[in-house]
Amino acid sequence: MRRFLRVAAIAVLVFAIGGFVAFRYLMARESIPEESSYALDLGEIRRLAAVPSGEKPVRINFEKVADASLPKGAVFAGESLAEPHPIVHGAFQVVFGDGSYGVIDSAFDEAMLKEMASDAPFDAAGFAAVQKALGGARWIVLTHEHGDHIGGVAVYPEPDALVGRLLLSREQIASDDWLDHAQFPESLRAKLQPVEYDAYHAIAPGVVLVKAAGHSPGTQIIYVTLADGREFLFLGDVAWNSRMITELWYRPRLVTQLFLGEDRSAVMGQIRRLHSLRASEPAVEQVVSHDAEQNRRLTDSGALGARFEL
Ligand SMILES: [Zn+2]
Repeated sequence: MRRFLRVAAIAVLVFAIGGFVAFRYLMARESIPEESSYALDLGEIRRLAAVPSGEKPVRINFEKVADASLPKGAVFAGESLAEPHPIVHGAFQVVFGDGSYGVIDSAFDEAMLKEMASDAPFDAAGFAAVQKALGGARWIVLTHEHGDHIGGVAVYPEPDALVGRLLLSREQIASDDWLDHAQFPESLRAKLQPVEYDAYHAIAPGVVLVKAAGHSPGTQIIYVTLADGREFLFLGDVAWNSRMITELWYRPRLVTQLFLGEDRSAVMGQIRRLHSLRASEPAVEQVVSHDAEQNRRLTDSGALGARFEL
């Protein structure tokens, strides 16, 4: 009996240590490697942005669909999982001088918000504005195919009206699991002509898609330069908060591996590259989709309009 107790005690200890080590591994902050193989050639992107003929956009607006939160430790590895961290959901409208516009991302409907954050308030008027903009946009692009970015497109009531204007990349269209998760209509998917490109692809004057697989297979960064010379990089969810880039502070493995299936080394390379870019090109505004604090700063200062123009 004493021998049994000793074995049992050792087993409990082994499990406890194993659990502790596993928890540390899944939650700990990992340093971002100094070297990055992710090439983000701003010179080439700027050159491509000038290729399409026509006037560059004149301003960019944001439309908020929800304020929500994530556990702080899900955004910043090593922080508390019990402490909520504010995030914002919405979409962007790139407005041209003649009043026409393009849309970046489509947010999601109330049902999908509730699935992610049951007590978060939904801005129905904001969502209606984004839906209306999907109807009138010259083009619609997505930073990536996760539900909170593709959801608005997936529930758009006239899917056929999106054909020819909804520009999904080959990787986004092929991302079965995420499109299924968003209940993206099969019939629409079959009618879309995928956008095929290697690294960079200009879709309009001043607007260039930049491939950035990692957070999801179809993640891309959207570069926009305005007629007045201001420049923006819409990073989608490469980072959930701009401090992930300024402080080189990545999400924990628990989130990236168990929930997202991220390519960690690819995203870490992007974070390192964007961190360097901030130093060398501080005027290029790196816009993070869910950063509530950054969003407030950009809309308060007028760098982004706080509502869509429709
Ligand atoms: Zn997102």
